[in-house]
Amino acid sequence: MRGARHDDRIVERASEHLSPMTTLKIGIVGCGVGGMAAALALARHGHAVTLLEAFEQARPVGSGLLLQPTGLAALRALQLEDAARATGAPVRELIGHDSKGRRVMALDYGDWRPGAHGVGIHRAALFDVLHAPLAPAGVEIVTGARITRLVDPARPVLHDEAGRSFGPFDIVLVADGSASTLRGALKPRARAPVYPWGAVWTNIADPNERFAGALRQVYHRAEVMCGALPVGKGPGGEQNCTAVFWSVPVAGIDAFLAGDFSAWRDRRLAPLWPELAQAFSNHDDWSGFSRAIYRDVSVGRWDVGACALIGDAAHGTSPQLGQGGNLALVDAVELADRLAASPSPTALKGWQADRRRHTGLYQLASKALTPLFQSRGWFWPWLRTFAFTPTSRLPGFRQAGVRLLTGTLRLGRFPRVSKP
Ligand SMILES: Cc1cc2nc3c(=O)[nH]c(=O)nc-3n(C[C@H](O)[C@H](O)[C@H](O)COP(=O)(O)OP(=O)(O)OC[C@H]3O[C@@H](n4cnc5c(N)ncnc54)[C@H](O)[C@@H]3O)c2cc1C
Repeated sequence: MRGARHDDRIVERASEHLSPMTTLKIGIVGCGVGGMAAALALARHGHAVTLLEAFEQARPVGSGLLLQPTGLAALRALQLEDAARATGAPVRELIGHDSKGRRVMALDYGDWRPGAHGVGIHRAALFDVLHAPLAPAGVEIVTGARITRLVDPARPVLHDEAGRSFGPFDIVLVADGSASTLRGALKPRARAPVYPWGAVWTNIADPNERFAGALRQVYHRAEVMCGALPVGKGPGGEQNCTAVFWSVPVAGIDAFLAGDFSAWRDRRLAPLWPELAQAFSNHDDWSGFSRAIYRDVSVGRWDVGACALIGDAAHGTSPQLGQGGNLALVDAVELADRLAASPSPTALKGWQADRRRHTGLYQLASKALTPLFQSRGWFWPWLRTFAFTPTSRLPGFRQAGVRLLTGTLRLGRFPRVSKP
């Protein structure tokens, strides 16, 4: 209770110098999906936005991601949906088989709404879609600024590792991802343990579109999960690319990537998924593969005074349901809307309380589903077959599964999002 009163005093102090129609000076840490979307939405609402990124050249990490109807709606609000669709590839179904060829999962976006689909997109392409309009919208982008310290959450100033300082800002958004360095300073009780399993990813050409139209996965128990996601254009503009992932325990990723590529392709992948192994016939090493780990972020409230965590920094989770980037996009546009209606740090509180009715559900569902797809032993894959086979066949279950997949499950209604 005393903590809540203390927080309220910080917010009051943060709002003291602002008049109701103020154009806010906003600092955003992290040029990822959430940071860029927030920067664009807020700049278009007339705020003065500085976006600070650790890397000298802001760049995307990883291979592909699946934009769900929620993420696409957020991109629509940013007038970027067409650009994303033009570079990505439609994904109409999620299909999962086990190593014996039994269908474990078959979810069709059409069961949510006729004609609906997700969009698989290469991260570099999504990065370009979000990055291109930033400078024209007036966002100041500072690269090579690894922010290590935030001073005074009521009137925040950011410091980078080179000793430079930025601010003071009216509001700071911390969008530095699931391994956030600033989260601990703002929320000392936050936790972000690494999930025991991660994955390796790469991008392959699919000239004959053998993997088009669906996110396909093949499982052997829960110890092997291999997936192929069509992502449309590759980072160099090449057509019909597919992102391929293979799950690996985090402790074994280095050893996996130091192992024999041909042995993996011919002895592990080929028996499970011959067509995909064939697509690697011209590869003879691990070049082009990247590693991915994920964290289970739990923070409590995301805001302190004039600062708020956003995206994975606030609610990172495993990518089992393919929602993290979508949640970050929705975070951004709903926050910009809140601040348009009430341009002061007090808006952060209502925004996070509202968003958590969406993000909380997906964090919980992703966490609950992760061992069904990434774990050892017989129990979890048995439960997966038990739980998902009816989901794929019975109408009521199927609809519930599809709602979960589309990202549209939320306690309470989605607020109307205005175009900035
Ligand atoms: C294997 C894998 C598959 C995934 N698949 C999907 C999917 O299909 N669909 C989906 O929606 N999501 C997916 N996700 C999740 C998605 O990638 C994340 O949820 C999303 O990238 C989060 O965006 P963000 O902006 O919060 O953080 P990030 O994209 O991680 O961006 C953080 C940025 O902050 C910068 N930064 C970090 N520290 C600092 C610092 N101290 N100072 C300045 N800058 C800093 C980083 O360089 C980076 O640019 C997947 C994730 C993984 C790992």
